[in-house]
Amino acid sequence: MNLNILVLPGDGIGTEVTREAVRVLRRVAEKYSHTLHLTEGLLGGIAIHKTGSPFPDETARLAADADATLLGAVGLPEFDNAPPAQRPERGLLGIRKVLGVYANLRPVRTYEALIDSSPLKNERIRGTDMIIVRELTGGIYYGTPRGIQGEGDEERACNTMTYNRAEIARIARMAFHLARQRRRKLASVDKSNVLETSQLWRKVVVEVAAEFPDVELEHVLVDNCAMQLVLNPTRFDVVVTENMFGDILSDEGAVLAGSIGMLPSASIGEKKPSGAWVGLYEPVHGSAPDIAGQNKANPLGAIGSVAAMLEYSFGLMEEAKAVNNAIESVLNAGKVTADLKPKTAPLTTEQVGAAVCEAI
Ligand code: NAD
Repeated sequence: MNLNILVLPGDGIGTEVTREAVRVLRRVAEKYSHTLHLTEGLLGGIAIHKTGSPFPDETARLAADADATLLGAVGLPEFDNAPPAQRPERGLLGIRKVLGVYANLRPVRTYEALIDSSPLKNERIRGTDMIIVRELTGGIYYGTPRGIQGEGDEERACNTMTYNRAEIARIARMAFHLARQRRRKLASVDKSNVLETSQLWRKVVVEVAAEFPDVELEHVLVDNCAMQLVLNPTRFDVVVTENMFGDILSDEGAVLAGSIGMLPSASIGEKKPSGAWVGLYEPVHGSAPDIAGQNKANPLGAIGSVAAMLEYSFGLMEEAKAVNNAIESVLNAGKVTADLKPKTAPLTTEQVGAAVCEAI
């Protein structure tokens, strides 16, 4: 298979973890006889330095041409006080918009080797393996009217939570498809006892469910879901929810995984004629200026994002599994970076990348 991939290393540890993720991609291509076409582009702080824009037109063109995009992280402290339009993070919004990625998939797994790193009791989190599917381009973060008006006692602020049928149906359909490839259980999270947007959400999810009679659907109120995630996380397989609920719940899910450096993510758009989904893959963490350039960042979130890319954008299930199994085996062997608090000397970013390649 031809794998045309745009690589955007970004800033700080983004460049370090992306280097290892690409090394893993090369290893997979070599082992399974795929042809890799890699293009590198500019995004974030480095793009501002080189072109004046956090999201240059050339990067938009490269992203549109690629089958999938692998991103490191963006953000440089020197831009902390810059206006929003001139900050590296604006590049992220730009690329998500250009690619039309409306679904953010965050797999949350508890690895046996890291179970003691979680603040939660082992017996509660052992066996956790879920995907949180967050709607990414609608809801209260985008709704209008919005803004702050007036002064003094009259000053007031407003945001608008709005969803239409089409937005709900497409994310619900994607979540049902994912559940079908897993344990066939879908939890739809809403606040339908209070919010009209949630009532429409629930109605449309129930309608879409008729297309997926083999998937068991349950509705969970968001406040109960927040509690269930820490009380009984193993009950969840696929969780689907709107933008703000997903933002909050997926960070809660991160606690189950041990370190932020472990978490991969996939942002998915429409299906292409080839059957593959348009996808943007990146670790959940940021550019971590406090450890940048020290070769000690955990690359496993970025490497897990490669596994997600192989699965969702290319349908290469065996290859994705090989990468995930390799991650698990380096964890079991204690070959990890300092953030995972190994009992012996921590490995460098490069050494962990090399260990994953060797395990593949
Ligand atoms: P961060 O995720 O960069 O770092 C938070 C803490 O986690 C730091 O102590 C860091 O050292 C540690 N950490 C993060 N990733 C790690 C890894 N792979 N291995 C080991 N330790 C890791 O978040 P922050 O400090 O709030 O933000 C730093 C910059 O990154 C800011 O400019 C922010 O805007 C940006 N940011 C970008 C993204 C993105 O590109 N998607 C996401 C979040 C933050």
